[in-house]
Amino acid sequence: MIVTADHPSRVVRYASEELVSHVEKATGLRLEIHAESEANAALPTRIYIGDSHAVREAGINVGKLAAEAFVLRVKDDAVFIAGNDGGGDPLDADTLAGTLWGVYEWLDRDVGVRWLWPGELGTHVPRTKTVVAKTCDETISPRLFQRRLRAGTGFISEHPALGFTSAAFKQFSDEQSVYLRRHRMGRSYPVSYGHAFTDWWEKDGKAHPEWFQLLESGKRGPNKKNGRFSMCVSNTDFQHEIVARWTAKRSPNASTPGFINACENDILGLCTCEKCRALDGAAPGDYLKFYPPTSKMAGSRFVSDRYARFWLGIQQQAPQGVTVVGYAYFNYFQAPTSGIKLNPNILIGYCPSAGWFPRSAEEHAWMKQQWADWRGTGARLFMRSNHLLDGYCMPFIFAHQFADEFHHAMEKGMVATDYDSLTGHWATQGPNLYTVARLHVRPEASADEVLAEYYAAFGGAADAVKRYFGYWESYTTGNREKINQTMETLQASRWRSWGKAAYVLYPPDCFTPAEKLLEQALSAIGNDAEAAARVKFLQLGLQHARLCARVSAVLTLVTSTADKNEIKDALDELIAFRRANERSGIGNFNHLAWVEDLSWKLSEEARRTADP
Ligand SMILES: [Zn+2]
Repeated sequence: MIVTADHPSRVVRYASEELVSHVEKATGLRLEIHAESEANAALPTRIYIGDSHAVREAGINVGKLAAEAFVLRVKDDAVFIAGNDGGGDPLDADTLAGTLWGVYEWLDRDVGVRWLWPGELGTHVPRTKTVVAKTCDETISPRLFQRRLRAGTGFISEHPALGFTSAAFKQFSDEQSVYLRRHRMGRSYPVSYGHAFTDWWEKDGKAHPEWFQLLESGKRGPNKKNGRFSMCVSNTDFQHEIVARWTAKRSPNASTPGFINACENDILGLCTCEKCRALDGAAPGDYLKFYPPTSKMAGSRFVSDRYARFWLGIQQQAPQGVTVVGYAYFNYFQAPTSGIKLNPNILIGYCPSAGWFPRSAEEHAWMKQQWADWRGTGARLFMRSNHLLDGYCMPFIFAHQFADEFHHAMEKGMVATDYDSLTGHWATQGPNLYTVARLHVRPEASADEVLAEYYAAFGGAADAVKRYFGYWESYTTGNREKINQTMETLQASRWRSWGKAAYVLYPPDCFTPAEKLLEQALSAIGNDAEAAARVKFLQLGLQHARLCARVSAVLTLVTSTADKNEIKDALDELIAFRRANERSGIGNFNHLAWVEDLSWKLSEEARRTADP
């Protein structure tokens, strides 16, 4: 019997329902949920969820726990799972949900539940006649104060026929929300950051042109009307103004930690004034080594030291305890070279504009070194990379290298994550996505341990599925040079127009061995309907990827000679496939439609809504 307070919060109610449904899936037994004043005294074995009188009598004071922390105690005939909770929607990343994290921890440990991908099929619950809650008494807090994998549900396309119908989108998006919370995505307190000064020119350009970048022409501000611009970060009045505006907005009664957003706009640091230049350190010898020649970085000046001094300047003017947030990005990504010392009240988002997976060993080491060197300044760091936008819906696997970077960051002071974005191609990129999600909960687990959990859910096909994704990971790694070159040749963006390159990087013959491996997987299963359904899910994803690669050959903007009829035929086939399979959860079709917009020659018909 589950026992809650008489008036449980939404988080506690949801946590109780999650516990009931997973235990039912494991055992066939549906636990009853009772309010404590009505609990049946004849049932002695109780699972107490969330704050209640009984929990307080047991000496657990959830009010004294750290944000999002929970107590998991199994003693005699009772299980206590009670945490620091907020009052909001349990699926909202900003709702504190310690009790929910406690339920997931217990389901993970004692029931062996694994959340492979969103939805019922991806929810792996080993069947059992007996669930044993092992004796324990622990208080557990999340290791990272923010754990964020952006949901990727905001992609909007000019050609929505390639995406989801609205009902299918709702299902996809709802199931992903549940999944992300099952992997404990959320945060202990709000923190605001992001390109901070985008509207300053319009507001302040006339009165304070000196706050803005000095152009080679001698003018201040954007180099064209409505163009992007960077700031004159050495200007101490500008630094002072940032603090003043933050202070004016900050509630005097605020109880959460204060963060001042000082992330440069979405552009290189370009101020050419003497004061800014005087702050710059010497460019490292390998400064541009890992950027392609067409990168915005080509020919840029190395300006990390000026930005480090900018953040420090703001932090020194800010009230004590307040944290200044900046991005290490573009030409201020590589760690400073002047020996500047920062401190933990400076929080830096690590946002490389190169370093896509798979990397060469040398490039991977270089990327890690930048993290280590920023950490060496004394600042705190969070992961704010865009690398997960890569790969389209292809079987593009880099789980081991990703895990290595994550482990390195954890060892060297990572305090939060914000990955942009989850593109949700669960059937073709499952090992990547499971690794990303799982490491947020088990940061010490090796890539092989994490992946072993994933493969085990395929029952008798576990080994074959491991070989299948091993094939794709080797394929991805082995094609690194070809990927980089093809992206250059076709002027394709890793995050925005991968659809141009799919047919070159995934020609028909690369799919054949993979299809054989999945057939072997299916035949290794025997009488396990769930494992068979999971392998069929992978097959469906692969079939779709193969189709997308084929359509890419016909429609790719830079190479296509397709006429109207050929375009129509290719799109008809693809759209029919997506309509037929949009409830399968294999991937985020709205993401694909967004990529395909900029990748392909598309017909007017594709501009229609996907809805009938
Ligand atoms: Zn300047």
